[in-house]
Amino acid sequence: MILKLHCAPSCSPVNGDGIQSILPQRGRGTSEAGGGGLPRAIPLGASFPLHHRLRRRSPSPSGRGFLGLALALLASTSPALAQDYDVLIRGGTVYDGSGAPGRSADVAIKGDRIVAVGTIPATATARTLVDARGKIVAPGFIDPHSHAAPNIQTPELAPALPMLYQGITTLFMNPDGGGPADLAPQIADLRTNIPGVNVAPMIGHNAVRAAVMGNVDRLATPEEQAKMEGLVTAAMKLGAFGLSDGPFYIPAKYSNTAEIVGLAKAASAFPHAFYESHIRDEGNYDIGVVAAVEEVITVAREAKIPGVVTHIKVLGPQVWGKSAEVIAHIDKARAAGVQVWADQYPYTASGSSLMASLVPGWAQEGGAEALAKRLEDPAMRAKIRAEMVPNLARRAGPHAIQIRAYKADPSLDGKRLDEVGAIMKLDPLDAAIEMLKQGGAPTVSFNMSDKDVEAFMRQSWTMTSTDGGLPPFGKTAEHPRAYGAFPRKLRNYVLDKPVISMAQAIHAATGLPAQVFDVVDRGALRKGAFADVIVFDPKTVRDTATYEKPHAYAQGMDYVFVNGRAALAEGKPVAERFGRVLLRTP
Ligand SMILES: [Zn+2]
Repeated sequence: MILKLHCAPSCSPVNGDGIQSILPQRGRGTSEAGGGGLPRAIPLGASFPLHHRLRRRSPSPSGRGFLGLALALLASTSPALAQDYDVLIRGGTVYDGSGAPGRSADVAIKGDRIVAVGTIPATATARTLVDARGKIVAPGFIDPHSHAAPNIQTPELAPALPMLYQGITTLFMNPDGGGPADLAPQIADLRTNIPGVNVAPMIGHNAVRAAVMGNVDRLATPEEQAKMEGLVTAAMKLGAFGLSDGPFYIPAKYSNTAEIVGLAKAASAFPHAFYESHIRDEGNYDIGVVAAVEEVITVAREAKIPGVVTHIKVLGPQVWGKSAEVIAHIDKARAAGVQVWADQYPYTASGSSLMASLVPGWAQEGGAEALAKRLEDPAMRAKIRAEMVPNLARRAGPHAIQIRAYKADPSLDGKRLDEVGAIMKLDPLDAAIEMLKQGGAPTVSFNMSDKDVEAFMRQSWTMTSTDGGLPPFGKTAEHPRAYGAFPRKLRNYVLDKPVISMAQAIHAATGLPAQVFDVVDRGALRKGAFADVIVFDPKTVRDTATYEKPHAYAQGMDYVFVNGRAALAEGKPVAERFGRVLLRTP
């Protein structure tokens, strides 16, 4: 006889001590390689007090009496009684991440793994029962482009709440060529101060170029090239998943395709590596968006590495409609056997900076300080300003640029550049120059058409991403994508207006990135996979962050399990953090 200790909805763990108190504590700093699971079976003597604590904070005489009775029963009946599962999610519509349609199924979790998906007998027991009727159950979302680092390395922001509220359980750090040139401290840091979600490092081209050459406007010498490739190799040995690139930004802007091919080859010497690029030109700045996508295809072909056009878009009214041409180029390359993919955030505004979006590349050499000096010289200022005029048109004019975080005068945060001009009593472009002289500012740039956004979204090779940072809550004028990208896609492009199916949207956020980046045993809701599992309500799931009020958590996520532990339970975060540092499988 088996004594069942059901955790009925009435003893829902979050109504008691909080879910973290009923689950065994995992050691901090667990990494993918070293992570052990929970015990596969909890003896009654252990599980009873845990269950008891759901109702009472401290043992009571009656509790001890019940425990005594239970132990007597144990002695007289069965040698090893246990809860069947740690978590049992019942009656939800399960999307397994493969792109297959949803089906009604139960999901069971033991330790950090999914142990069953299907019809689980009504007699099965679990310490945490989730009634998912009417809800969608899916693998946790994987964000291929996140600016969460370095803020996620701070104690205040390590919980990564904007991500958890979106259902993100794994994110890729150091995109756009950024991050540290040596990944060792970042990895060590995140293993010590474990984050709320899994984190996976990439090694950035811009980072290694800055480390070897500084922000200079010239090609690399063979010696410098070898040094940069050495840094990429070292990072890959540490477990970086791939190379991230940002030739739109300095200093990678000053590279040529051969330099990138060399670095991509250094990465592709390791199994399962990929290369992800914020392409050289998303609009018609210099080489144009189509040629810039072709550069990714060239690198992917020559270095024999999967290439990802990150946050794919056609930027600026002059190139609206070019999504068709870009898609045709990618399809042609794929048909020829080149592995090309893309990711996308579902917004018509991008995030950039005054310098990167308005200032010509040559004038950015040396960075913001050097630019500020150049702008002090009247002749140089006139020359730079003349080239900023067409760049402002490429960005759809001064009303299409919103200032995010201007350190010199935070009262301007959230204002459009035309408003800033009116406040400063200057032409908007001159206002921008004044701000650049004070260090510049990050921006939100309204430059896309929804038709292009939808066209890219429909492609089978497009993943979902945020491109979002991890700002201190309420502190900066952030792009709302940091809080809302994944639920926004579900709400706006699946549920309200069916641009793509729920199955495709979930695949684009789970199984597809897991496949492209070779994230082993994640992005899939199947027996044996890591238990990164989300439960959300299709009736309520939505983003609430707007351009005007970006600091607002997304809604509709009921449960977010990270490595088998509920990081979000009944829509609320728990105090503990369950993320791991994921490293590329050798
Ligand atoms: Zn980018």
